[in-house]
Amino acid sequence: MHLTHEEKEKSVVAEVSKDQLMAYTTRIVENDRLSGSKGEARAVEYFEEVMTGLEFEVEVIHIENLISLPIKASVTVISPEQRQISCITQSFSASTPPQGVTAELIYLPAGNEADVAGKIIMREGLAAPGPTWDMEAKGAAGQVWINSGDLPHNMCISTIWGHPTPETAYRIPKRPTVSVGREAGEYLKMLCSGGAVKILLHTAVKTCFMKVPLAVASVKGIVEPEKYILFNGHIDSWHKGASDNGTANACMLEVARVIAKHRDELRRGIRFVWWSGHSHGRYSGSTWYADHNWEDLYQNAVVHLNVDSLGCRGATMYPDVESTAECYGLGKSVVETYANQSPAYQRIGHSGDNSFWGIGIPTLFQLLSRQPKDASGPDALIPGLAWFWHTEADTLDKIDPDILFTDARIYMAAVWRLCTLPVIPFDFEFTAQETITLLKDLDKKAGSSFDLSQAVQIAETFKKKALLLKQKCIELSRKISNNASAAIEERLNTAAVSLDQCIMKLSRILIPVSYSGTDRFDMDLAVSIPPFPRLQPVAELAAMDPRSHDFKYLERKMVRERNRVCHALIKAAGCIDRTLSSLRL
Ligand SMILES: [Zn+2]
Repeated sequence: MHLTHEEKEKSVVAEVSKDQLMAYTTRIVENDRLSGSKGEARAVEYFEEVMTGLEFEVEVIHIENLISLPIKASVTVISPEQRQISCITQSFSASTPPQGVTAELIYLPAGNEADVAGKIIMREGLAAPGPTWDMEAKGAAGQVWINSGDLPHNMCISTIWGHPTPETAYRIPKRPTVSVGREAGEYLKMLCSGGAVKILLHTAVKTCFMKVPLAVASVKGIVEPEKYILFNGHIDSWHKGASDNGTANACMLEVARVIAKHRDELRRGIRFVWWSGHSHGRYSGSTWYADHNWEDLYQNAVVHLNVDSLGCRGATMYPDVESTAECYGLGKSVVETYANQSPAYQRIGHSGDNSFWGIGIPTLFQLLSRQPKDASGPDALIPGLAWFWHTEADTLDKIDPDILFTDARIYMAAVWRLCTLPVIPFDFEFTAQETITLLKDLDKKAGSSFDLSQAVQIAETFKKKALLLKQKCIELSRKISNNASAAIEERLNTAAVSLDQCIMKLSRILIPVSYSGTDRFDMDLAVSIPPFPRLQPVAELAAMDPRSHDFKYLERKMVRERNRVCHALIKAAGCIDRTLSSLRL
């Protein structure tokens, strides 16, 4: 019996087992899994055992990365009264000298620009990289961050993406940072409102180069053996990390178990990768991988399919698909089919092991199922994350097997389509439309001081070509699905491979320009990166005096950046032209 692609997908997704997912999760979260720890090593051994059992090609290597593990911390109120406050310190906080750091504590409400030099500042929110660096750069002697829940959240505060270089090493924090829970925070705020407060901070953080594991399991495709889906998630965790990232690790093993039974049906291959150093090395595992496999990733990686924090109790919402634009249609369709919700597009942010934008690899997914908005309440650090995120309370009892099952089915379907559809299911017409919207927005912000209308026109031309490409992909997919003749199969497959090559080339051309503000062999800082980051300063021109030297310098720089964007779009359109004109269906 000949199954349609949809029928086949349904039957493959039906093989995903809820019990198996929970069994994998239970095993993985037996131990704490700090980067480089014994618990993490045990989980990696389990990956090796499972993947070898599935007869995948397995490689576990040990790489050296700069890792930072919080050991202990304390806050002691010295005046106006004496009191001990419980707190945690953060990955990449500095350790204090043995006597600690004593200074005046000042409370800084959001937006307050007070002089912080020499003071210990106290602010509300997560100890995030950008704001903590900002405070340190302004000369704060130390930092106390008030989290909104009972338990403070573990964080990594480095603004350096992955591995320091001579240009970025100065950003390794040199002052201590701690986080406290709501109650301690309210007490300290109350003290500050009554007059001068002095506190003593102690932090101990082990920051050093250490060996951490990197686990890879691969299976090759039949039609395009070298091409692969980079399906990845971090194995290191905070504490037991049941939801972050035990369930996601389990999802990868379960998808692998099902895929292993269908290895003869894969057009493209798949590479399952577990990174260490995500939580305690600011994505240093994926950065290492990008740095040391650059050309292979450039030539062969179809997509960076990330998985993180699945199956949390209460996470019943699928509000959006975090992705690069061309992957949105795929993400939306699998969520609609398997979770019965219609997610919006969310341009992927600069976090979660997105170490591959310089190379030009599209990203699909980061977080998937989310807490409803009202359930997150004031604790909504990153909207939709649960209160136990990055705390010792992230234990097995926080997992909802049904939600994990739905999440894993969504991933299974996405992997199945990416590996087996006749043509890679990416939609560059949507990318073109996003580009047009973003360029129009920048053009408006620049006002009469800078003109992006020609760039918009070029993007519109690209959009027309992207539509032609999409139509051709649909036509060819139909022919391949309906084809019963071995005689023309090879010709159709050749055409499909050439469309795939074009699709991969388009992301190599467009993503570095749209998502990265640095050289494509380098890494952006671990802060938020706006779209078309290098072109963003056009907005500043509107407020500048066009006769000033500063205006003329910036204006010329922006002409160069406009060239960069236009050239990428023209190159991408040309790539589609050449592919379609040489295609034999
Ligand atoms: Zn995570």
